[in-house]
Amino acid sequence: MKKIFASILAIIIIAVGVLPCLAADDSCTCGQTPIIYVAALGSGSVYLDEGTENEKTLFRPDVAEMLGEFVPVIGAAAELLTTKDYDAFGDVLIPCVNNAFGMLAMDDEGNSQPRVTTEEFHPDTADHGIDYSYYFGYDFRVDPIENAKLLHQYIEEVKEITGHDTVRCRASSMGGVTFMAYLRLYGSEDIETIIFQNCPLQGTAVAGELYNGLVEINKDALLRYAECALPSMDSDFFGAFLYMLLEMLDAGGVLEGLVGVADNLVVNLKDRVFDEALIPIFATMPGIWSFVPDEYYETAKDFMGINDGEHQVLVERLDYYHYEVQQSAEELLNQAKSDGTNVYIVAGYNMQRTPLVSAYKNTSDGTVDTKYASLGATCAYIGEQLPADYEQAEHNDINYISPDRMIDASTCILPENTWFVKDMLHSTTHDGHDEFYRILHESEEQLTVFDMEEYPQFMQNDTVNQTFHQVIPLSDSALENAFAQARQIPSFINVTKLIITFFEEFFNWMVG
Ligand SMILES: [Zn+2]
Repeated sequence: MKKIFASILAIIIIAVGVLPCLAADDSCTCGQTPIIYVAALGSGSVYLDEGTENEKTLFRPDVAEMLGEFVPVIGAAAELLTTKDYDAFGDVLIPCVNNAFGMLAMDDEGNSQPRVTTEEFHPDTADHGIDYSYYFGYDFRVDPIENAKLLHQYIEEVKEITGHDTVRCRASSMGGVTFMAYLRLYGSEDIETIIFQNCPLQGTAVAGELYNGLVEINKDALLRYAECALPSMDSDFFGAFLYMLLEMLDAGGVLEGLVGVADNLVVNLKDRVFDEALIPIFATMPGIWSFVPDEYYETAKDFMGINDGEHQVLVERLDYYHYEVQQSAEELLNQAKSDGTNVYIVAGYNMQRTPLVSAYKNTSDGTVDTKYASLGATCAYIGEQLPADYEQAEHNDINYISPDRMIDASTCILPENTWFVKDMLHSTTHDGHDEFYRILHESEEQLTVFDMEEYPQFMQNDTVNQTFHQVIPLSDSALENAFAQARQIPSFINVTKLIITFFEEFFNWMVG
């Protein structure tokens, strides 16, 4: 009896001793919480008739294939020049748009058509560490709430495969929409760190205005839009060459002519393009609705023909994201921070936004307006500064106004945790960003814009040298500003800008 008792005791002791070891085998002690990149719009491919011989990639479409769909438009455009018959042109254009994008349309409740399916994402390696990011993509069309459920599943899978209890995340552009919906559904218990990079957290004006039919083409905006992208090109020299070419086309009146043609197209065809293509394709697409800022939201429902009767389920879904997620960002992020999650927001500014809507004056990263990506910064219009008598709106004990007086960050929801990168093109990063994000990811403490001398709240992007500089104050002289810019970043494009500015000033002086 004593022997049996001893044996049982021995088994218990061994079991108690061994079990924690077995459990410990599953959890990783490397100290490097896995990182998940919550990717941007277009990260998940969308297929028609997947797995059949007719399979076709609807998004992102093969460029050559898509151009093929639009071949008839070229002939029709040539005819338009002589006939000025816009309706005939529309008869060719609109079916082409519908052929290319029509199958992306959702049903009246905002669900995909059964023949249209999406790529699935699962972690496929247990390797993790500061230099590796898991990649989460999704179908941009669907309700962000549905994508948040998939993100939750993905996070669970990453935790399982790596043996960690928590993850670190970086969300880019629409990834931020998905992540905010995740916060609403699941809280931030599993999240150590979240970096929002150029995310339309409160929407983007281009969606708000298109969903209200506010189309407008502005020549100067068009020119700036083209030129803003050039410094991010692989070749600085080629970028400078294109810059000069665009300036010459502008000086020669060619752009004016093009905008005139485009204006005529808008005047004559806008209603048809909206009624026959854009509204049928986009009106019931919850993913794109998530980009509509609050000031455009309710009127957009009227314009897009979304009403409570026919679209009751859809309206409930759209309202849930809009009011419980987008308009609850302050509550959600403050809750995440007080639960111990480090929250970082990065917004670009001084880039020309999409030049085809009335809000072309908003400073942005080219796609998302700075005021929406930063959750509430007060911003001067593109190319302008805050008025000379402008005073910081909040928190007057600390300076939140950018050295170039383009941004007042004091009105942001999280002013201490929001960085502004001047001349950062939407979700276009380089080694300098990687290094910055690495520091944010590695910090156990929530860092602020005052903690790191080399990463202040306002940073000048340098795509040529892949780094950041201090933002320099502006003077009243365009020539002085161009000179200071060329001295700070001596790239071909900045030197070209300096030369062109010099000749412009010289010409103005001659004429004046
Ligand atoms: Zn590990």
